[in-house]
Parts: sequence; C-alpha cells; structure tokens
Amino acid sequence: MEPELDASRPAPVSLLALDSAQAAARFAELGLKPFHAKIARKEVLERGVTDYAQMTALPAAARARLSEELPILSGVELDRAVAHDRTTKLLLSFPGGARPATVETVHIPPRELASGRGATLCVSSQVGCPVACPFCASGRAGLVRNLEPHEIVEQYVRGRAIGMLSRSVVMGIGEPLLNFANLSAALDVVHDEMGLGSRKVTVSTVGFPDRLRRIAPHKPRFQLAISLHTPDQEQRDVLVPAMAGVPIEDVLAAGDDWFEQTGREITYEYVLLANENDTFGHAERLAQRLARRRCTVNLIPFNPVDDSGYGRPTEFAVQRFHATLVERGLIATVRWSRGVESDAACGQLRIRRQA
Ligand code: SAH
Repeated sequence: MEPELDASRPAPVSLLALDSAQAAARFAELGLKPFHAKIARKEVLERGVTDYAQMTALPAAARARLSEELPILSGVELDRAVAHDRTTKLLLSFPGGARPATVETVHIPPRELASGRGATLCVSSQVGCPVACPFCASGRAGLVRNLEPHEIVEQYVRGRAIGMLSRSVVMGIGEPLLNFANLSAALDVVHDEMGLGSRKVTVSTVGFPDRLRRIAPHKPRFQLAISLHTPDQEQRDVLVPAMAGVPIEDVLAAGDDWFEQTGREITYEYVLLANENDTFGHAERLAQRLARRRCTVNLIPFNPVDDSGYGRPTEFAVQRFHATLVERGLIATVRWSRGVESDAACGQLRIRRQA
C-alpha cells in the first residue's frame, strides 16, 4: 500500500493536474519531447496505466525520469474493499485543506462476466456533503471541500485501472450541482479522452431548480437523475434538508424544462424507507405528481446506515410501490444495490471511516 500523504508539505503537481500545454512544458523541462506528454496522458486516460514503467511507448530513460519527477496521480489509495460479487470500493485521500480529504469510488463490474460489458463506476463529486439527508452516511460530517477536476478524473483513472468502464454514475459522496464547474471540467475529459459518451454518464442531484435551469442550455454531456424521495412537501423538507422550502413543483418544473431543452429524459430516484415513504398512499401521490411526464422512477430500497433510525422496506412494500407506479402508467425500476456487504452501496459511503 502507498504511504499516507504528509499534509504539512505541499504535494508535487501531478500529470493529471496539468492540461496538455502545461504537460508539454513540464516534459520539456525534464528534457523530454512534447509528444511524450501526449503518449503518457493517453496511456493514463485510455488504459488506466498509473505507472510510467508500464508505458513501453516511452523511451526507458524517460520512464525513469518521469517516475522520479512527475507523479501521475495526486491521491493515495488508503483502502480497498472487494465484495463477493467483485464490487470494489476504493477509499482515496487527496492532499490539501485543513481536514483530511477522503472520498470513495466504487467499481461495479457487470453481473455477467461473459457479457463483454465493462463496469459502472460510482464517483464522488465533493469531500463530504452539505445536503445532510438523514438516511445517508455521506453527509454526516458536512462538507469538507470541493474536489478539483483532476481529483474527479483520478477516480475514473483508478476505476479504469481495475477494469474496463462502460458507464459511470456521479452518485458517490457529494452534491454534484454544488461543485458543478469542477465536475463539468472533469466530465469533459472523461467524455473526450476516456471515451465515455454522454448517455453513459449519469449525474444525480437533489435538484436545485435555478442551477438546473442555468445548466440545461449548455447541452450537458450527461443524463440527469433527481433524488426526489417523496411526493410530500413536509417530508421532503426533512429527508433532503438542503432543499427545505423549495417546492417540489419547482423541482419537477425545472426537470420538465431540462427535458425540453436537452431532449433527455430524467430519472427520479426514490429511496424506499420502511414505513416512512414506502406506503401505498405515497406511491399513489407520487404517480399523481409525475403523471404525464416522460421519465423513469428508480426505486432504491434503503441500505442500512448505523443510527439513522430508518429501516429497510419489506419486499412486499417494494413490490407494491413498484406495481402501483406501473399500473398508473409510469416506468419504474427497482435498484437492489450491490456492494452492501462492504458498505459500498448507495448511501453507505463513509460509514467505516467514521466508525
Ligand atoms: N447528492 C446527490 C448524489 C449522491 S446520492 C443526490 O442526492 O442525488 C446517490 C443516491 O443514493 C441518491 O439518490 C441518494 O438519495 C441515495 N441514497 C443515499 N443514502 C441511501 C441509503 N442509505 N440507501 C439507499 N440509497 C441511498
């Protein structure tokens, strides 16, 4: 395992933190050619190579020099948990800031190994989260800091190093719309240089209406998922504290505008909490709210988080909820999360570290 970073010393700049021009300049300082910088960047982004020694397209002397002078990544892998189904959770630490900046990234391989498909990577957008949903472990300690674009890209590179990626969801720690400029810069790299198309990347948000309306005209290169969690205003104010007072109608209207502007359908996410928001009445009211909208509802049975006070819904409640939506003409799916045993499932990120 790599050593922990010494927070008191400034970390050397990494290859990933440099843009193409800066990388070419740095390579020149090291007596290398600008095209060597291009090769190195390609190896990192396209193949997930994180060790110069493996970049056989570079001259041996260059590999040695680079290994000494220019780290590829800036973070450190503090821990790795692999579940029985090969879902891998990485605990990463990045330098800078007063409090330790650790985030988690989850590599979820396809269920059928022989399918030829690559994995889904679940990526964090912030260190900690300011939204503080009471059923989610990620917001327990509040927001520590935003991730830099290269720190977001680094998660993709480390995921790619584990195995091929076919999809990605920005559903790890953090609220993506509150670090949108950095996320967007990172997703440009992921799109242009790692080859993940805009239909293959989903960004999940609690759905700040103003921010959605500002972003939509720029034709974002991702699919949008909005965490709704309940059709009832009072309950949403509790379940999604950062959105307290923001009318659900506004969130849905911003979603409609998004669809109109981008032509892309939205997914509404709904964490099912036993006896809280999983009743027949909730399903009926949700169906009313979403009636005549072209969207998908993604039901996520609650994954246990210590001391949250919430419980996992029964299989019956999940099926009833799903059937109620489908009978009323909605498209709905149930997402039984993978990685629960290693605390890598939705909402569980960061539990271990704080225990
Ligand atoms: N802040 C963003 C992105 C991260 S959340 C958002 O809220 O959308 C990723 C998804 O996991 C969200 O839909 C979130 O509500 C859900 N989630 C959080 N805690 C969970 C838990 N304990 N069990 C199941 N899903 C959870």
